Amino acid sequence: MQINRISMKRRNTPAKEAILNVLSKADKAMSQDAIEEKITIDINRATIYRVLNRFCDDGILHKIIAESGKQYFAICLDCKEKHNHNHFHFRCTKCDTIECLPVEVNFSAPDGYLVTDMNCVLTGLCKECSTFL
Ligand SMILES: [Zn+2]
Ligand SMILES: [Zn+2]
Ligand SMILES: [Zn+2]
Repeated sequence: MQINRISMKRRNTPAKEAILNVLSKADKAMSQDAIEEKITIDINRATIYRVLNRFCDDGILHKIIAESGKQYFAICLDCKEKHNHNHFHFRCTKCDTIECLPVEVNFSAPDGYLVTDMNCVLTGLCKECSTFL
């Protein structure tokens, strides 16, 4: 079991590096398709999908789900072992991007509700797109 996990890790290393490299250069969240387009080495879709989800489990990336249901991925800034996200995301309908906003989501759930996940996405025009109105 242990050996298996190690060889698995090694096999995915180039894929991991390529994906992290693409995302760390982007200042916005990216969909799997967009990430795939930027990767220069040959990695199949299933591997990209697996690596992205592994990164989410490890607190390296977080996933944002748009109203369309499409998933986007962004680098976590200060998640150590556990995700710690209480910020809004913004989806621009014109340039079709999603970004993390430095705006805290502040709320308290009613008694008896235990919140384990949060997906706060605002939709509209981003800073760049709204300037040219
Ligand atoms: Zn995180
Ligand atoms: Zn925009
Ligand atoms: Zn975010």
